[in-house]
Amino acid sequence: MILVSECLAGVPCRMDGKSKLIPEIKQLVDEGKAIPVCPEVLGGLPTPRSPSERRGDRVINSAGEDVTSAFEKGAEEALRICREHGCACAILKSKSPSCGYRVIHNGRFDGGLTEGNGILVDMLLKAGIPVMTEQDFLNTVS
Ligand code: SF4
Repeated sequence: MILVSECLAGVPCRMDGKSKLIPEIKQLVDEGKAIPVCPEVLGGLPTPRSPSERRGDRVINSAGEDVTSAFEKGAEEALRICREHGCACAILKSKSPSCGYRVIHNGRFDGGLTEGNGILVDMLLKAGIPVMTEQDFLNTVS
């Protein structure tokens, strides 16, 4: 089983109320090979919601509010689901403060990027679950 970002499976759970459908990932879910999670929704955040970015160990939204606890709660729940389903790896949405792998927004809300992982990705890697972005995945199937 593979853990995937729910927005990549076509669910409109992103902060802007839209999805980021990747048909090949939705197909994995439809075939019962992948389980979709949205850690931010699992953490109790609404959709749509204010954009948020990591600043060190914290997550701050564009209104300046510290939303770290919701992000951590949702990531913990996503990790629990990952373990419950015995997921061997995860395919997660790039650049997100939850799901981003290797590169995320820089915390200044200026569109800039920096090296780093989302909150869920840090938890998965610590638990020994390999992570790839949607582009990494598409590179393996093209
Ligand atoms: S938290 Fe992850 S799954 Fe949810 S909308 Fe953002 S990138 Fe997609």
